[in-house]
Order: sequence, then C-alpha cells, then structure tokens
Amino acid sequence: MFKAFHPFEPKSIHIRDYIHLIRSSPSFGDARCPACEQPLTVKGDLDPKQGVEIHFAHRRDPNSPVCPIKSEGAIRYQVLTEALPDTEAARSLRESFFKNWTYHWHQFKKYVRTVDANDFAKALQEVDSRGVWKYRDLKEHEVIIAMLATKDFKPVKKYRARWVRFWFRSEVENLQEFWNLGGSKKVMIRAEYDLSAKATKIREDKFKDFSVLTINSSYLEDEAYAEAPRVVQAILSKHFPRLIDPPA
Ligand SMILES: [Zn+2]
Repeated sequence: MFKAFHPFEPKSIHIRDYIHLIRSSPSFGDARCPACEQPLTVKGDLDPKQGVEIHFAHRRDPNSPVCPIKSEGAIRYQVLTEALPDTEAARSLRESFFKNWTYHWHQFKKYVRTVDANDFAKALQEVDSRGVWKYRDLKEHEVIIAMLATKDFKPVKKYRARWVRFWFRSEVENLQEFWNLGGSKKVMIRAEYDLSAKATKIREDKFKDFSVLTINSSYLEDEAYAEAPRVVQAILSKHFPRLIDPPA
C-alpha cells in the first residue's frame, strides 16, 4: 500500500510523507490500514532487490483480523438473495429505483468519479438480475452501494487510469452485514490499484490510493439530480427498455 491512515490525525498519509516524518520524529507511531486499522510496517526501503518500491505492508500476525486489502486476490462481495422470497416490498423498491434513476446515476457518479453510463448500466443489470431488491433491510439509497461493492471498475483508456474497487471495513464480510450496521458506521473505502484491465487478481502491493466515503442517504431529495444528460438517458433506455424511457 502506498497510502494509509495517518497515525493520529483523521486523514490519510502517503508513504513518502510518512518516511519523512519518522526520520525527523521516530516516535511518530505506525500508520494504519484503512480497512482493518491494524498498524502497518514499512517495507521496501532496505530491500536489496531493485524495483521494490517502498510501501506500507500488514504485519504477518496470525492473530490479526482478516483484511480485504491484505488478502491477495480478495474476492468481491456478492448479492446473495436467491433464497429470499420475492415480496411486494422488493417489487416496489425496484419500481421506485427505476423511477428515480437520475438521482441514483448522479450519486453513483459521485462515488466512483471515473465512470460512464455503461458502467452504471452494467452494475445495475448485475444486481438486478441477482434480485438485490429482496434484501429485507435495504434502503433505496443503498442499492447503488450494492452496485459499487459487487463490481470492479477496471481501467478504461479514455476515462479511468486505475482499477477502482470498493471495500467495506474489515469487520463487514458481506452485504447483509453492511445493511445491518448503524448509520454512522456505514462507510466504504474507494481503493485505487495500479493494475491493468487484464490483471486477474487484486494485490496489496498495487494499492496506490484510497478515500473513505460517507454514505449519502439524502440525495433522493436533491433537486439538482432530477435530470440527466440526454446521452446518458439514451444509453440507459437501451439497457432497460420499458423501465427507462428514451429521451423525448
Ligand atoms: Zn488491513
């Protein structure tokens, strides 16, 4: 990892700045992992092998918690609702989501940042086909959280240089556990990896940057989100005929 939580301030710190600080003040303390909050060591500086960039690494401690960032090739979260009944509530949540799609598009874009209408459509198709609506405790503004958590946003030449993946904090192992958390504890980590689109697994030593997202639960009231560009609507209406009208 090249960025981690600052040892005592509520912000992130780059490995370069961290090295600089501990050189001048060795009692500075350890940087911490954004997902599991474990103290991190610094690796690479004394490594005789060329090309090992200096980076933060988790300690090899069998008693430390499982962490999605440290586990090599960590698997994405999945929508697991097959066994749940298709209720009236699920149907009305789906209907409401598609009615409000412009709001969801704008907020989704805010979270991912480097994204286009096709990314949104694909992520939505995936959670829709898996019946995300059937989660009992799911709120409408959290459907896009399921979309973020279950999709890899791989590099695309035109608009996304790095591989983006979203993680929950390490104590959350699946979507249901996330829905069950108290409101203030619902945070996501937006991680950027220096991997090519062809890479087959996520690796800690490619973890370049991150930011912590606070879940916005009030964007459905934001009037600025009531409309979307024609081109976005045209793309989505093709993916979801009958649910989203083409532009007039
Ligand atoms: Zn960790």
